[in-house]
Amino acid sequence: MAKFTPTPGLEAMVVRMVAPHIQRVARQVEVEAKRLAPPTKRWVTVADDKVRPTHISAQGQTVPDNLRFTVSSMDWDRHHRGVGPSTYMLQPRDESSRAVANLKNCRCTTMVDPQGIARNITTGQPIVTGKKVTVTVTARGPMVVEAEVGTVYPGGLVADGTHFMAKAAAIVAARR
Ligand SMILES: [Zn+2]
Repeated sequence: MAKFTPTPGLEAMVVRMVAPHIQRVARQVEVEAKRLAPPTKRWVTVADDKVRPTHISAQGQTVPDNLRFTVSSMDWDRHHRGVGPSTYMLQPRDESSRAVANLKNCRCTTMVDPQGIARNITTGQPIVTGKKVTVTVTARGPMVVEAEVGTVYPGGLVADGTHFMAKAAAIVAARR
């Protein structure tokens, strides 16, 4: 029985040959992840002298669309509605937050940025370690992990994950 022994360095050479291919696959994952990533939303007040202090503090807060804004609670809601120090709202006037006082007469809105997460998804360069090629697709930004896997807020309010990275990888894997 003959035994084939690769020329020393051949494996490393093969790895370098496939590296660009691996990176092309990773770029496809990046494209799908950008398509599937949820938008972000930003809390916007009307910025006049009638905006309540708890919403002045929320001005500009930006979160992935599947998550909740964290707004300081109003005393009435703490005493009568059992909310903690913070109230968690999907959007201004969100009744699912269980607040009442913090919603009343609110004129705030949200500004949605469809590319809020997508623009910070990138593909790295191939890293060759022995026989292994690694290319990493990365999403950076505030709360991207919670955007992916979801979270639970105090009081048991659940935000489902969007699984945009996992879905992107699964879509590209299914093409192989
Ligand atoms: Zn408001």
